Amino acid sequence: MLADQAWRLSDPVSLRPESFGALAYDFTTRKLSFLKSPELVDVVHRLASSPSVAQALADAGVDGSRRRVYLQALESLAVSGMLCRRDADDAREAPEQGREGRGTDRGAGQRRGRARAPTAIAPPARTGRLVDHFEYGLDAPICLTWELTYACNLACVHCLSSSGRRDPDELSTGEAMRLIDEFERMQIFYVNIGGGEPTVRSDFWDLLDYAVAHHVGVKFSTNGFAIDAGRARRLAATDYIDVQVSLDGATAEVNDAIRGAGTYDAALRAMANLQAAGMRDLKMSVVCTRHNIGQLDAFKALADRYGAQLRLTRLRPSGRGADVWDELHPLPEQQRELYDWLLAHGDDVLTGDSFFHLSAYGEALPGLNLCGAGRVVCLVDPIGDVYACPFAIHDRFRAGNVRADGGFDVVWKTSPLFDDLRSPQTGGACTQCSAYDACRGGCMAAKFFTGLPLDGPDPECVKGNGAHGLTRVDRATLPTASKDHSRRGPVRNQPVVVPLTRRPVDKACDENPLAGLWR
Ligand code: SF4
Ligand code: SF4
Repeated sequence: MLADQAWRLSDPVSLRPESFGALAYDFTTRKLSFLKSPELVDVVHRLASSPSVAQALADAGVDGSRRRVYLQALESLAVSGMLCRRDADDAREAPEQGREGRGTDRGAGQRRGRARAPTAIAPPARTGRLVDHFEYGLDAPICLTWELTYACNLACVHCLSSSGRRDPDELSTGEAMRLIDEFERMQIFYVNIGGGEPTVRSDFWDLLDYAVAHHVGVKFSTNGFAIDAGRARRLAATDYIDVQVSLDGATAEVNDAIRGAGTYDAALRAMANLQAAGMRDLKMSVVCTRHNIGQLDAFKALADRYGAQLRLTRLRPSGRGADVWDELHPLPEQQRELYDWLLAHGDDVLTGDSFFHLSAYGEALPGLNLCGAGRVVCLVDPIGDVYACPFAIHDRFRAGNVRADGGFDVVWKTSPLFDDLRSPQTGGACTQCSAYDACRGGCMAAKFFTGLPLDGPDPECVKGNGAHGLTRVDRATLPTASKDHSRRGPVRNQPVVVPLTRRPVDKACDENPLAGLWR
């Protein structure tokens, strides 16, 4: 970047002010960057109307002694594609090394730039470590999960939200749209939409369009049953949508034992349809269990075959997952195997930062390495209740409801629960551990639902301290999820596929999870 050139923020990049500076999100590459000083944000804003970078720096009061480091920070933004040249044609332009995974040379079905661990653009001002800012919370979540419905056509044994039946009090289409309006006002760059099975909602496709039209990107998770060729084409045609297909076994035998008969074939069919349609942001999402850790290479090969990115996540003892956690959570030697595999595959594989407790083995895994509950993460459930994290559906972690005065914004900014989660945590016994900086005691939800103290070790602590603690837990007093929408009858803990059939229009309060699926 030359100081006498004119640059500006790239078109698909949105800046959200934060106390430390700003978050920048590129809707094309899905890349998130942190501008770690308000002064740098000021300079970036001034670029739009300044004839040169030098002028923008001068107008922002950046003197000669600080000029070089500011230029370096701007250079980093340019390399990552966040800034572009203001040429006559105003075309997006960035140094070559910033073009990896982007640009016009992608064919149909090829992937765009990956959502990676966030990049910190550090200006000279000393504003503290980013992780400290995250611990105190942000003006809006980075990672907001919105479960649209508790209805689901499956009954996976480990469902974190105990889904099955629709809740009669589900947010209406109008309420859901007003919530999207609010997300837009708060500059929540994207929402992770899940359920239940979100496509079961008859207004799902309208809500998707509405979110995209209101600059809220959508990453949605599906079991794939509803993704036929036509819907795949519709999804692939929209630039702001990522699709994540769930699969918990690289073979039908392993997968269907968890998710139900026929679910392996359905997931692969959906991925094939999306690939054929040219979907560029396809992910294959796997919950790691005792039965599939040995299939990590096979999962990677499967994802590659469909042009998808592999995403591995941790099994938590939440929802119905609590019922099967003892039998399914990876054994200690499998945790080590997973850790080594993740280290070897680095940025190639997404994890949603869910394995940071494994960083206690030594080298830290990529990502934030902290529990983001109520700080950078939260959940809005189908009836508008806001929880600290998608894996913590329990009254203890309920922060409020979006239907209350002030909506989601007020819950996020003023809930006493979130305030508490954002205040300095003690770390308890874990602070004596040499691995504490990397592991931070692990996952709050995993501890809570296994009956361990929140300031103690994770139940899967790699040093064995959690397993030791579990031997002292009175299992009769274990907390259970506050909501259970599992279908009645002999389906709990037994995978079952409900056949998708055309149904007449149902009432909103109909508990049939397939109500209106084909409308
Ligand atoms: S409670 Fe667990 S799953 Fe939730 S944000 Fe914290 S570490 Fe992640
Ligand atoms: S004792 Fe605590 S900090 Fe140490 S590895 Fe175990 S969970 Fe992590």
